[in-house]
Amino acid sequence: MSESKFSVDQQRRMLIKGLGATTLASTLMPTSIFAAGRGPTAVIVGAGIAGLSAAWELRKAGFQVSIFEKENFPGGRMVELTTGPLHGATHAEGVFNANREMFALGAELGIESQVRGEAYNQVWSPESGLGLDNGHGIYDPGGMSDFNIEVTRKIPGMSPETSNKLFLLQADMDEINATVDPCLLETGIAYDNESVGDYYERALGKASGKEIVNYKIDTACAGWGWDPYSTSKIALLSWLSSKEKFVYPRGGIATLPEKLSSVLPVQTGTTVRYITSPDSNGRRTIHYLAPNLERRSVTPDVVVCAVEGKYLASMVQGLTPKQEALSNNCFFTKQPVVYWILDEKHGPEELIMGAYTSGHPDPMKARTYHWVAMPGVPELNQPPYVRYSLSRKHTPEWQNSDMAIEDYCWPMIKQLYPQLEKSHIVDIVDHSSDSLIHMPVGYINQMGEVLREQRKGKKSLYLAGEYVSGAHTGAACASGRSVAREIIGHWI
Ligand SMILES: Cc1cc2nc3c(=O)[nH]c(=O)nc-3n(C[C@H](O)[C@H](O)[C@H](O)COP(=O)(O)OP(=O)(O)OC[C@H]3O[C@@H](n4cnc5c(N)ncnc54)[C@H](O)[C@@H]3O)c2cc1C
Repeated sequence: MSESKFSVDQQRRMLIKGLGATTLASTLMPTSIFAAGRGPTAVIVGAGIAGLSAAWELRKAGFQVSIFEKENFPGGRMVELTTGPLHGATHAEGVFNANREMFALGAELGIESQVRGEAYNQVWSPESGLGLDNGHGIYDPGGMSDFNIEVTRKIPGMSPETSNKLFLLQADMDEINATVDPCLLETGIAYDNESVGDYYERALGKASGKEIVNYKIDTACAGWGWDPYSTSKIALLSWLSSKEKFVYPRGGIATLPEKLSSVLPVQTGTTVRYITSPDSNGRRTIHYLAPNLERRSVTPDVVVCAVEGKYLASMVQGLTPKQEALSNNCFFTKQPVVYWILDEKHGPEELIMGAYTSGHPDPMKARTYHWVAMPGVPELNQPPYVRYSLSRKHTPEWQNSDMAIEDYCWPMIKQLYPQLEKSHIVDIVDHSSDSLIHMPVGYINQMGEVLREQRKGKKSLYLAGEYVSGAHTGAACASGRSVAREIIGHWI
């Protein structure tokens, strides 16, 4: 690896960090393919779960790995917030039980039980009022990975015609479940030919299709900010047909990246500015800002670009036309969420919550995706709070309003939870995220083309992350691991 402007002090710090990581990792990592310290050099850009998983595999094989991360913490979108009143809160919260690569990696690291968790459906309990309200009744909407026909048939207000047609979906779901890996969506290319909304209208007829979208699918899509009529059907059906539960990791969602980054040499506060086209030796140079804002560059044998897909085109020179097209088609949606943190005296006695379909006849409820009033949990240092998520349909209204999220949402939360008083609020946290990938019809085909091109032979640049696998943590993890295996295959 050639380095420029690399200070002795910096090298010494990296060596110490690397040695620490090596000592810890040596107890976990099996024998490598390359002789110690003699493998190819690899820089992983981005320490999200995809980058960390790729780095883990490459290091096991004997590659000399460095990981550059622009934030001052590793883990990307899977990490928990570590400061402020929402200590322990996280954007990503649950994982699919179908995440085979993620659970296998957890087992390899000795933390499988922390990476696994409890069934999502236990959260919903229509009997105690904790369920989805569509104006006809409160019901269990089911998880993101279990389109159970018998449960769906019982949705209040749904017409008998629609209920009686639901069995028509079973054959498609069984076929998808048997052929598509929800963590490697490339396996679902054949189904990337229509939107999820269009699929239900075709399979059940227009009226029933619209009903099922309104009562079941729109709710599933709303948290991601996806529009069912533009989202590729396989992006959602690969989950809904998987028949496996959505679970909350026992150790918290950040358990896996925390463990990986404790045994890998992650350089946080290191921002990649750009990556050049290959030189005459076929290698690319990474230009980056070190934590002290010094400009540096490095030319490794392999670069793994595991940043958010939307950054790829502006960061990497000399992309292939297919890679560039994928990055330009990769866009993110916003999930608007606000927390009002309460003083200890004014928290609710017990959990109170509400969730509504966007077709709810009450316009105020139709605006509300989900709200919760949560008692404090002193053992976790968690204060009482009220949380409100705006519905996907009304997000553009808020974005065009120039209002702070807490002001826009105040009239709705006051109606839903009148006990909330401004004098009880000690802090307000805008927990909105604009970082959810959306996979429109055609995207998965593009993804497949890029991956096929990538597999053809040894390269100086490889892509890894949710944007080439699927919109969730297990997919990002599977992508990192499988890309690393391809690289190893190309280099031995
Ligand atoms: C609000 C929200 C809720 C979610 N809920 C769930 C959920 O419940 N379950 C689930 O499984 N998934 C969920 N997801 C999706 C999941 O978080 C992502 O799919 C996954 O974490 C993506 O991992 P990744 O490694 O591909 O990307 P990231 O985690 O985004 O990692 C990319 C990394 O690259 C770094 N980077 C970017 N640019 C540079 C640069 N120039 N130089 C150096 N480093 C750079 C970033 O800082 C980041 O750390 C959710 C996502 C969001 C936003």
